[in-house]
Amino acid sequence: LHARTSLSAESIFSRMSRLALQHGAINLGQGFPSNPPPTFLLEAARQAVGTVDQYSPPIGLPLLREAVAQDLEVNAEQVVITCGATEAMLALAQTLYGAGDEVIAFEPVFDIYVPQTEIVGAKFVGVPMVLGAAGWELDIDALRQAITPRTKALIINSPFNPTGSIFTRAELQAVVDLARQHDFWLISDEVYDELYYAERPISLRTLAPERTFTVGSAGKRLEATGWRIGWIITPEGLAPEVAGLHQWTTFCAPAPLQAAVASALIEARQNGFYDQLRASYAARMQSLAAGLRQLGAEVFTPQGTYFLTARLPNVNAEELVIRGGVAVIPMSAFYRQHAAPPDMMRFAFCKKEAEIQEALRRLKTFL
Ligand code: GLN
Repeated sequence: LHARTSLSAESIFSRMSRLALQHGAINLGQGFPSNPPPTFLLEAARQAVGTVDQYSPPIGLPLLREAVAQDLEVNAEQVVITCGATEAMLALAQTLYGAGDEVIAFEPVFDIYVPQTEIVGAKFVGVPMVLGAAGWELDIDALRQAITPRTKALIINSPFNPTGSIFTRAELQAVVDLARQHDFWLISDEVYDELYYAERPISLRTLAPERTFTVGSAGKRLEATGWRIGWIITPEGLAPEVAGLHQWTTFCAPAPLQAAVASALIEARQNGFYDQLRASYAARMQSLAAGLRQLGAEVFTPQGTYFLTARLPNVNAEELVIRGGVAVIPMSAFYRQHAAPPDMMRFAFCKKEAEIQEALRRLKTFL
């Protein structure tokens, strides 16, 4: 076996979902919705299977590239369709960096950024977020200090998993200024772009179109995380380079699902689907946050995503899933180079209201 099998350990999300199943726990760990996807998506899939069944071009089905371009107000030539955002991030790693390069991301860090950086031989550099009076904040000075002549890219994620933060225009502009000054790429993971509870997130691409690769996800947008349809918006002229590497991994994303997503993206925009989704998640977020506060937790209210972070002293996530019947993700799972704030956990609230209430009851008994 190659030494890179050291990266083959089970992810924290798979592990917690497995333990949840094994112990009959309510799964507030891995972020996937309990509710089924919208019927307009399922109906579109029924029509596509049996009609669009052969390979699409590696860069993506033309109809879907058009639909993504229309939705995000970019040129269809800039769009590459991938097998989910996870493969999109790997295709970018393969396209943009390798041995000797350094890649910066903020900690707490969504786990895949680290092994994907290391798989292509580059070095991961974590810059910790700080817990200020207003909750989780970007530390621009710490970022500046982490930049070296080897810095090849910065991965940013807004809305941010796991904290639910949304970066402000000033924060994003500071990041862009540094990227221009030191000439590195920006990879902006925006899979939660439609899940915000106050102000709409600003897409980093709009501030630095010449160096930003934006990653999006139909699974997150349309509540079907198992479909594995994602996309990349590249700077002008670079889509064929990225698609060229993506073709060696999967050749193309599943064609019928690409066709279904193409029509569903247009329909979702027209029928107010995202407004309903936000309203329904905002209600579930409020009830989880209120319930946790009643149990004595310090809750950091998210501005976006379907995750919230909270401090619940003396609770061990492993014991909680096994003996308490509730799965969450321990914050330590999101730290590689810095210490996690103690007693902190991430709770997913993309679950049914009844599941959230039952999880709160079980937590109360457990505490
Ligand atoms: N995005 C999901 C989460 O943060 C999980 C993704 C995964 O398991 N790969 O929970």
